[in-house]
Amino acid sequence: MKVDLLIFNAAQATTCAAPAPKRGAALADAGVIVDGAVAIDDGVIVAVGETAALRGRYQARTQIDATGKVLCPGFVDCHTHLVFGGERVAEFERKLAGATYQELLAAGGGILSTMRATRNASLDELVAAGRRHLQAMLRLGSTTVEIKSGYGLDVATELKILAAIEQLAAIAAQDIVPTFLGAHATPPEFAGDPEGYVDLVCTEMLPAVAAWWRVSRFAAGDAPLFNDVFCEQGVFDVAQAQRVLDAGARLGLRPKIHADEFVALGGARLAIELAAISADHLDVTPPEERELLAASETVAVLLPGVNVHLGSRHFADARAWIEAGAAIALATDFNPGSAPILSLPLVMALACRYQRLRPAEALNAATINAAHAIGLGDRLGSLEVGKQADVLILNAPDYRHLVYWLGVNLVEGVIKHGRLLDLSS
Ligand SMILES: [Zn+2]
Repeated sequence: MKVDLLIFNAAQATTCAAPAPKRGAALADAGVIVDGAVAIDDGVIVAVGETAALRGRYQARTQIDATGKVLCPGFVDCHTHLVFGGERVAEFERKLAGATYQELLAAGGGILSTMRATRNASLDELVAAGRRHLQAMLRLGSTTVEIKSGYGLDVATELKILAAIEQLAAIAAQDIVPTFLGAHATPPEFAGDPEGYVDLVCTEMLPAVAAWWRVSRFAAGDAPLFNDVFCEQGVFDVAQAQRVLDAGARLGLRPKIHADEFVALGGARLAIELAAISADHLDVTPPEERELLAASETVAVLLPGVNVHLGSRHFADARAWIEAGAAIALATDFNPGSAPILSLPLVMALACRYQRLRPAEALNAATINAAHAIGLGDRLGSLEVGKQADVLILNAPDYRHLVYWLGVNLVEGVIKHGRLLDLSS
């Protein structure tokens, strides 16, 4: 049988295959095929198996000899805030010198400085910066990226960010999944009145966002739009988070939630009640809520890069989440304040060190489970027949090298939708 592409002779092909998000013992199985091969036609995986079997069955128009390399699914970064103006480099140095959060805020820093820079940026500037970030992520193996709005905090700028995300989806090599995060912080116009800002999000922003989405390339391509909220002490409480997520759900937006990053308010419980597709951070979730969330369909997204960047010694108890049976995923949380991190392999490596994930657990969490955290688990995230052909070629003979080495990029080749990409641009 004739196919477009056959990659063969791989020391290992790790399939991460599963019919649903991986939990428990399944998480520790990367689905390793020794001397593996993948056959691809028309952008779709048509066979995965041992080289001897596939070479006998398929003649390929293009062949890649992957001797000594690993094949794995393209990484899925299921939580980023990739579109923003400016950066926070000077603030980072002040923080290293001992400035407190209050001092940084008083000096005009923090999330509101990014809000100002984002409001002041043109659409073209936001797209140009976002494109640079996405190109860097692609070289690091992320072939699908979720992007949240949330640095506009007014109707016009939130729509500008979503327009930037839509343009990025048109030009980037990756699949892009949009999320509206209007309730990211309370803007200065509503200082001391988060309730008033939540009113604006529910009555003006969400209807405008839903109207944008219906005529966007995302709706046309049958891609979902998610609605996220930052549920945290001093930001939005559970009742406010519920108002935002309910209002979105009435417009067809599926809930996501930033929950339990610093203080446990009950965000994990809310995620279960509202059937959120994911609950993210979960650093301080109480055991009883962990059990409930683990038993639900909601994916638990862990973001250990944030803890490292913030200099925290406290991490989500990933082993307890796994033992409870949760479907855990990993993501960068890429943003200019708490996670200037573009590398999902680095996050996987940190999760192994600080959260004692095993290499296979980290790989599954950043591929198949991350795909389920953004509603794409049926389409991508694993090397399985019928799935979109998003395949990485790693310059290592064993997938565990991915999390063992620090500060080196092992991604040598990226195949997106069946096409080998040129990573030099
Ligand atoms: Zn986030």
